[in-house]
Amino acid sequence: MTGAMAAAPVADAKPLSGHDLCDRCGAQAYVRVVLPGSGELLFCAHHGRQHADALAKVAVEIQDETDRLSRPQRADAAGK
Ligand SMILES: [Zn+2]
Repeated sequence: MTGAMAAAPVADAKPLSGHDLCDRCGAQAYVRVVLPGSGELLFCAHHGRQHADALAKVAVEIQDETDRLSRPQRADAAGK
């Protein structure tokens, strides 16, 4: 690792699934926070927002999938 990769896209980011649970409350996680080193934290939308400011200062990557919550589940039902 070079330390010059801050703006690099996360090539190996895995989509969050129902198996990923919030570290705070155990709800389904929609935010993955990658910490320096190899650590990562998972948060639901509620806790992701609650800790967003603090996490932004320490995280090397924040994978935010909270927009999935407001997206219709029915495929192509929303139109374009
Ligand atoms: Zn939570």
